[in-house]
Amino acid sequence: MKQRIVILGAGESGVGAAILAQKKGADVFVSDFGKIKDDYKQKLNHYNIKWEEGKHTENLILNADEIIKSPGIPEKVAIVKSALSKGIPVISEIEYAARYTNAFKICITGSNGKTTTTTLIHHILKNAGLNVGLAGNVGKSWAQQVAEENYEYYVIELSSFQLDGMFDFKAEIAILMNITPDHMDRYDGMAAYTDSKFRITQNQTSDDIFIYCADDEVTRNEVNKREIKAQKFPFSVFEKFEQGAYKQDETITLKYKSNELTMSIQDLALKGQHNTYNSMAAGIAAQALKIRKEDIRESLSNFHGVEHRLEYVLKVHGIDFINDSKATNVNSTWYALESMSSDVIWIAGGIDKGNDYSMLNDLVRKKVKAIICLGKENSKIHKAFDGIVDTIIDVQSAPEAVKTAYYLARKGDTVLLSPACASFDLFDNYEDRGKKFKQAVRDL
Ligand code: ADP
Repeated sequence: MKQRIVILGAGESGVGAAILAQKKGADVFVSDFGKIKDDYKQKLNHYNIKWEEGKHTENLILNADEIIKSPGIPEKVAIVKSALSKGIPVISEIEYAARYTNAFKICITGSNGKTTTTTLIHHILKNAGLNVGLAGNVGKSWAQQVAEENYEYYVIELSSFQLDGMFDFKAEIAILMNITPDHMDRYDGMAAYTDSKFRITQNQTSDDIFIYCADDEVTRNEVNKREIKAQKFPFSVFEKFEQGAYKQDETITLKYKSNELTMSIQDLALKGQHNTYNSMAAGIAAQALKIRKEDIRESLSNFHGVEHRLEYVLKVHGIDFINDSKATNVNSTWYALESMSSDVIWIAGGIDKGNDYSMLNDLVRKKVKAIICLGKENSKIHKAFDGIVDTIIDVQSAPEAVKTAYYLARKGDTVLLSPACASFDLFDNYEDRGKKFKQAVRDL
């Protein structure tokens, strides 16, 4: 009998999984409690895949041999609980897709820096001529690529939600950027979130590679406590290691076994300490794949960065405007402020995911002249920075934020949108927020 595969959630990941399952001859059904986007409906119809929207019909779901759950659906929703209690395995698209490819997998997780590092590694490998695909949280779903493409290597961004549904999956190279509080609305505290991130090392053997940030306290403690079989390559800007990457003066050294590469920080395309970490992690992975030093250097210096991540927008009358709309937690904003070398007009706010702003106090005191709160509810920001910054102004739209910032700024200052919050109160998503900010700057 055909295996029955039910997919919960018809977004990029779910539709990709459905296409792969269909191709592998399963009896496939897709169920989405919300509304499915038209282009995904067309895709499902095109492949003759059955689907429903606006409901989860139990008898069409709980007869599954296996359920593939989209990362956006929490495990506590009723239908998932029912499936688990009936003993139906609930897995992620990534776990499923891995069964159908022998490609070499370079996987990246962390609270911040995933997309940047994933895209950077893909850039290096592609420039070096490898047959490599980009997958996970970025672009086209991995499952659909496994169904339709023939890449020998994949660089895969993994969120903790995807990792939660992974059991037999193994990364040949696993990279853990950092573990700082995020998504505390879905995890039962930091320990559960940390466990989820460390699933990136599960099933690895001594032939595999684990690259991690030794300056991240949580990661470092856990690495010491856990039994990790893979070969370990730490990176740090404070400490020197025999293997891995370190920074001394203004130079980074990447050491993979007997291979050593040095590069001036000046030559890295991505600026700021957080990006030094991202470049180091990407560089070690590239060395492990035996990419030539000249190619690694060239790619680390000509990478263009990813939209909405400390993205330089424009200079208007001597005032720089920077779009860091993807900074949706306090830690990413810390790195944005840390990398600023002039006085800052800081645009922050949105939906607070349980933020503790106190780690920003020193940087804000040193660098921020004024705060513009771009959110419906800004009282937490006022409370955190009253007495530290004299000028804190509330606004309700991107053009209002930009005009107010422009009015307050002087030549040589920087206007930085780095919200430390999610965007859904005033915008569709962080991309919408970043685009509206950039448009408002161009309209000045
Ligand atoms: P993710 O995919 O993990 O959300 P991104 O690369 O999209 O990470 O970056 C998200 C935000 O975090 C951006 O504001 C970016 O400037 C910042 N950031 C990027 N790399 C790091 C890092 N290694 N540590 C902390 N913050 C980072």
